Amino acid sequence: MNPASHFLISWTVANTAELPRRDRALVTLAGVAPDLDGLGIVAEVLTEHTTTPLIWYSKYHHVLGHNLAMGVILAAATYLLSIKRRLSALLVLLVFHLHLLGDIVGSKGPDGYQWPIPYLFPFSADWNLTWQGQWELNAWPNILLTLLLCAITLYLAWQRGCSPLEMISLKADAALVGALRKRFGDPSSGKRPQLS
Ligand SMILES: [Zn+2]
Repeated sequence: MNPASHFLISWTVANTAELPRRDRALVTLAGVAPDLDGLGIVAEVLTEHTTTPLIWYSKYHHVLGHNLAMGVILAAATYLLSIKRRLSALLVLLVFHLHLLGDIVGSKGPDGYQWPIPYLFPFSADWNLTWQGQWELNAWPNILLTLLLCAITLYLAWQRGCSPLEMISLKADAALVGALRKRFGDPSSGKRPQLS
């Protein structure tokens, strides 16, 4: 599944609870964090035609960040950094596993490679998780899901008054929420828009 979908799924989960802004960000970022193990693609592409190519992407993507141990590390880090510690750490475990699930169902490579999830890495080579019905990364269910998640994110922004933009700029976030509420009415005041 693409990082944008992982991000929006995690944002949606973060908004199922009453979390402060920092915790919402931590839960959301933890849901994307497993894919940091794909950054080796930069080294791999750059050294592709050299005498000592680094195959960090082929070797480590869907390995280093996609296992239970990483989930526990992310939850522990969130516990230390968040305000509502226990709730945030639990939600991180949830978004982490939704990430793995998303990859198992919808991350087949264009070459048909299934990118198995080594759930017990580095402690055991058992449990390499795949699913026979897995669809490709750019297949329609993924595109549909991304669009649906965008709609949910806009709805949440309208309803709850915050969007992922709050992670970069509160001003931009307020502008988006303001625009949505001007168009669709302010849910907190119970006012409906003027339809003319
Ligand atoms: Zn992933």
